[in-house]
Amino acid sequence: MSEFHPKYPRYRGRFAPSPTGPLHFGSLVSAVASYLQAKAQAGEWLVRIEDIDPPREPAGAADDILRTLEAYGLNWDGPVLYQSTRRDGYEEALLDLNRQHFTYPCTCSRKQIQEALSRSNKTVYPETCRGATATKSPHATRVKTEFQDIPIRDAIQGLFTQNIREHVGDFVVKRADGFYAYQLAVVVDDAYQNITEIVRGSDLLDNTPRQAYLQRLLDFPLLQYAHIPIATSNGDKMSKQTKAPPVSRQNPLETGVQVLKFLGQKVPDQWEFATVDELWQWAIRHWSLAAIPKTRSLEYGARRENT
Ligand code: GLU
Ligand code: ZN
Repeated sequence: MSEFHPKYPRYRGRFAPSPTGPLHFGSLVSAVASYLQAKAQAGEWLVRIEDIDPPREPAGAADDILRTLEAYGLNWDGPVLYQSTRRDGYEEALLDLNRQHFTYPCTCSRKQIQEALSRSNKTVYPETCRGATATKSPHATRVKTEFQDIPIRDAIQGLFTQNIREHVGDFVVKRADGFYAYQLAVVVDDAYQNITEIVRGSDLLDNTPRQAYLQRLLDFPLLQYAHIPIATSNGDKMSKQTKAPPVSRQNPLETGVQVLKFLGQKVPDQWEFATVDELWQWAIRHWSLAAIPKTRSLEYGARRENT
């Protein structure tokens, strides 16, 4: 663990993209929102590449994302952390959960789980292996959940509460192929990097109670959260899956203005004459978290036509 444990920690935010492809508008919005929220509080803004799922990561995608952030003048503090280098940290957390008897091996195949679900009227993993102990056969590792409401007080979305045993079920923290699950890695690294607040897309809001649960089990500090609206195009999240175009590096100023408008922020009167660095300096001074639309998603195309 890092040595930095001040009593009143300085604000530390982060942008944590998965390198599954180039940045699209929606992920640029997350990058800018987390950057401005950190800088408006004279805080630090870290970039973490969440490369824990190699089969989904085309070669060069991480570099491509970093070059785009640079082209937009979004300068991160400290070195970039790559999750592919953090396996020891995840294993340590897993051992900790294991010592507390909160994990168990699950040998169910996807098909077996589907069959068990269709026999019962459950929608989440039916806890088939909950009583299991060590096994030599290939297995995923699941964490035991509890019937308990976990409240998240989100600075934008308000109170979000979820009973994870009922709505999510015992979830996987290490996959059968040996890779660690996002839920575990993100919690371990947010603690490792002393992050104080997470600003990210609202599509991750319903993952947050699981993460808060792991933080509690691992005795990590709790975090602040602000989940911003995700950008949709004709109702679908703008992502690689929906073939959203990558953001261009050619006109960061114009795109930066679109991002600020999407986030409900003011833009300078004569922005046409500014540089993108000046745009961010202005945006940091005028940043208002309260002005961000309190909604889970927003049409990007439609707003653009209106402006
Ligand atoms: N790596 C995740 C993603 O790109 C985001 C993780 C997070 O911000 O917690 O969707
Ligand atoms: Zn199982």
